[in-house]
Amino acid sequence: MADKSFKYIIVGGGVAAGYAAREFAKQGVKPGELAIISKEAELLDSQGFMCALEVEERNSFPSGMQRKARDPFFNMVSELAPPNSSFSLLGPLSYIVHAPDVQSLVCRGEGLESHIGISLILSTYIVKADLASKTLVSAAGESFKYEKLVIATGSTVLKLSDFGVQGADSKNIFYLREINDADKIVEALKANKNAKVVVVGGGYIGLELTAVLRMNNIEVDMVYPEPWCMPRLFTEGIAAFYEGYYKKKGVNMIRGTTAVKAVKLKDGRVLEADIVVVGVGAIPLTSLFEGQVETDKRGIKTDAFFKTSAPDVYAVGDVATFPMKMYNDVRRVEHVDHSRKSAEQAVKAIYASEQGKSIDEYDYLPYFYSRAFDLSWQFYGDNKGETVLFGDTDPNSATHKFGQYWIKDGKIVGAFLESGTPEENKALAKVAKVQPAATLDQLAQEGIGFASKI
Ligand code: FAD
Ligand code: NAD
Repeated sequence: MADKSFKYIIVGGGVAAGYAAREFAKQGVKPGELAIISKEAELLDSQGFMCALEVEERNSFPSGMQRKARDPFFNMVSELAPPNSSFSLLGPLSYIVHAPDVQSLVCRGEGLESHIGISLILSTYIVKADLASKTLVSAAGESFKYEKLVIATGSTVLKLSDFGVQGADSKNIFYLREINDADKIVEALKANKNAKVVVVGGGYIGLELTAVLRMNNIEVDMVYPEPWCMPRLFTEGIAAFYEGYYKKKGVNMIRGTTAVKAVKLKDGRVLEADIVVVGVGAIPLTSLFEGQVETDKRGIKTDAFFKTSAPDVYAVGDVATFPMKMYNDVRRVEHVDHSRKSAEQAVKAIYASEQGKSIDEYDYLPYFYSRAFDLSWQFYGDNKGETVLFGDTDPNSATHKFGQYWIKDGKIVGAFLESGTPEENKALAKVAKVQPAATLDQLAQEGIGFASKI
């Protein structure tokens, strides 16, 4: 087969790819210059999968979830669509644009192609990357040549079998990463309306998916090995609120043990389950580039412009291990905010270098968030040092507004808030960025008021 050649190729069709393409469009990419190659059949935003489940089951979105499901390609469509258009959801993750002068344009990416000439090479699994000859090869044997490559392959799920669990390939065990995964879970739930579900894992997927299931009146047990949920961010004090709240919502949370054989637990208990959904972490997809780029912390090492050690190759999103300027450290981040910003930074850097200009180094302030039931928290900064909890941490109270600061060397380095207003969340970001001096006593007394003064 003849090679296809492009000036720029983005490999991957997720969040970072979407934002990279959007930035390419802003920078004036010419028709035919850019291709997005993804193994999936659609351009996706994996964080929308949770919403896909909700749409299927409840036929409505809780407010605030809408943008999530449609982002980032929704943003592109909304920018490209004619004025006075409106948007509505047409099944999980595909969009119909109603516009006065376009009868209806179903956007599974086609909009990108016809509007700005970005080639979408979907259902195309890249199985070989030769960075020396600047060539990618697909499973079907097609070759793609590039001048500049943006790696946006994201992560894949860690499996129970990666932890040596037997029976982990049983057909009632599901994972959640791609749209197909969500479809399979929805199908299984539809086939068994009274299914009892066990969710394995106490991180983001465990907590968010459990909430979605409970909102659909599905019986759920959650099991995780740590003494409290979301241990990579939550302290025991924060987790106590969420565990209490989930209990109030009818979730049975089993802590401090793990699955050793399907849903047989390490402590000997066996959980009854029709369906098991597993969220035990993610691992970046870097194997295509093994031995060809420098790696660190399981990711592809980049500079502050997301340039890798290989010439003309950039890495963005979940796969990039980049300099975290604020903390004089290198880190990898598995969240959408960084995926978006890293993608924009890389494309800006590509154009700047072509024009002989320079841009500022990436200076990222970590930002994580989650929504579940009617709860919504945000966190900015670093979760290092001493902590102080403030506000109403009672899971049974009507307001449940509380937060936490992290203090290191007498300065605030991290801030968490549940149920904050938009202004308070802005203040949270600012306090984590500015890092003012404060004492634990002062913060315990002033709570979010302290951040709001900065
Ligand atoms: P991805 O979005 O995963 O995209 C990677 C793309 O590369 C995929 O299209 C994949 O198919 C493709 N690909 C991989 N290998 C190949 C190959 N060899 N050939 C061709 N294509 C390939 N983060 C938040 O901050 N907030 C949230 O609410 C949130 N919710 C989430 C919910 C779920 C269910 C999941 C799974 C993750 C969620 N995340 C959330 C994390 C967030 O989605 C990721 O951090 C983000 O998607 C990373 O973006 P990315 O572009 O690097 O990777
Ligand atoms: P995670 O890292 O958030 O949580 C993994 C959890 O797995 C751990 O907290 C632990 O409780 C559990 N675990 C580990 N080994 C286990 C074992 N052997 N048995 C039982 N439990 C075990 O990962 P995740 O929840 O799977 O999420 C996957 C990816 O998706 C991550 O990159 C995450 O950042 C991302 N995500 C983010 C959001 C968000 O930002 N709101 C939402 C969903 C997913």
